[in-house]
Amino acid sequence: MWDFSTEPEFQAKLDWMKRFIREEVEPLDLVFDQPGHHHNVTDQRAMAAVRPLQAEVRRQGLWACHLKPELGGQGYGQVRLALMNEILGGTNWGPRVFGCQAPDSGNAEIIAHFGTEVQKQMYLQPLLQGDITSCYSMTEPQGGSDPRVFQTAAARDGDHWVINGYKWFSSQARWASFLIVMAVTDPEASAADRFSMFLVPRETPGINIIRNSGLIGEDEEEGAHAFLHYDNVRVPADALLGREGKAFEVAQVRLGGGRIHHAMRTLGAATKAYEMMRERAVSRFTQGSSLARKQSTLQAIADSYVELMQFRLLVLHAAWTIDQGDSETGRIGIASAKIMSPRILKDIVGRAIQLHGSLGVSNELPLGQYWIKAAAQGLVDGPTESHQINLAKRLLRNAQPAEGMFPSEHIPSRKAAAREKLSKYLNMSEEELA
Ligand SMILES: Cc1cc2nc3c(=O)[nH]c(=O)nc-3n(C[C@H](O)[C@H](O)[C@H](O)COP(=O)(O)OP(=O)(O)OC[C@H]3O[C@@H](n4cnc5c(N)ncnc54)[C@H](O)[C@@H]3O)c2cc1C
Repeated sequence: MWDFSTEPEFQAKLDWMKRFIREEVEPLDLVFDQPGHHHNVTDQRAMAAVRPLQAEVRRQGLWACHLKPELGGQGYGQVRLALMNEILGGTNWGPRVFGCQAPDSGNAEIIAHFGTEVQKQMYLQPLLQGDITSCYSMTEPQGGSDPRVFQTAAARDGDHWVINGYKWFSSQARWASFLIVMAVTDPEASAADRFSMFLVPRETPGINIIRNSGLIGEDEEEGAHAFLHYDNVRVPADALLGREGKAFEVAQVRLGGGRIHHAMRTLGAATKAYEMMRERAVSRFTQGSSLARKQSTLQAIADSYVELMQFRLLVLHAAWTIDQGDSETGRIGIASAKIMSPRILKDIVGRAIQLHGSLGVSNELPLGQYWIKAAAQGLVDGPTESHQINLAKRLLRNAQPAEGMFPSEHIPSRKAAAREKLSKYLNMSEEELA
């Protein structure tokens, strides 16, 4: 039974979220609008505005809904989370206000799984409360798509590990209370066993931020993505998260659900661009008619709607399969959504920019930010190409080679077989049926 409806009680929560985001959260985006500002939980002025909103979200039972109930979440399942993230996707501060900001959400899951009791007390509780923020430090300057080129290494020294190396684009490091760092612990091992994961408190000596890179259009040195030098960073043996050599096991914990939520947030941004396009079409008058009467505008709006719907169904179906416990189809869905996210956002935002003319490319509309977001979506958590390769390999797993000389859909071969079959029913020779 296919059912595309939302239960009335949960729809009421979504409706509340939509109003709350528009009226209470979007003003934060407009006033506290520095790059990565929503990660800066040390900004007292911004947090004075954010805290009461977080309290309201808690009262509504919508705080940190991605978490399992034992960690204070609601156990909503992926479909409901996807619907919530669609609403959060049009804002910068939304995830912070609702306690599901990446990478803190994934990092909390890692500590919950692998952290010691002391680490949980020091970092998990404040992270879950939204009092601190964190960083996930994996990509290196010489390459991010292929861990086999990573060089940052941790060497055992008595009861400690000593980390040395460079990391690139470690988002939020400048405001983080701790960093989760991936480092080589056995250079001779295969890639699957070469790396370990560490929890490194930010105040540990030797963590040097070389600079904070920004995204296109952001001021130099105002960025949120740190180029880091780990210079003899000494941490105790229990800073190791998970098993030695098993960093990928640890990383896996934060990926699946997170990617679906990213995709739904992308949909939220794309929907905003689409709504802006609709408004513009009926607002702007040029060459004797409104834009809404130009064929190219109608095409742009129709194509955008169809693409939004396709993408929405793709993501919700992936979420639904995860909720059904079908992890293989879920993985295929997640990879498909990850591949489509940048494409859908770029196409729809591109059309919205075009319809808004010069205003579209100006910094007076949010479309430029969405445009950069689209490009970034093709890289965050691995570039599109890696996901295409992994998805295609998965799809080819059960593919069978053709039995004969030609493909199994080869028409002459199938015709010959069909004639042979029908000649028996019809009591005719194969030649008569030719
Ligand atoms: C906004 C943003 C935030 C980020 N935050 C973090 C963070 O917090 N922590 C962190 O560790 N990293 C972070 N990253 C880094 C991100 O994970 C990397 O950008 C990504 O893994 C790609 O690595 P790279 O940038 O080094 O590109 P490269 O590895 O140099 O790849 C460049 C291009 O090469 C092509 N390519 C790569 N592999 C293949 C292939 N197998 N086949 C065909 N073509 C290929 C693709 O076109 C790819 O885009 C962030 C990135 C962005 C954009």
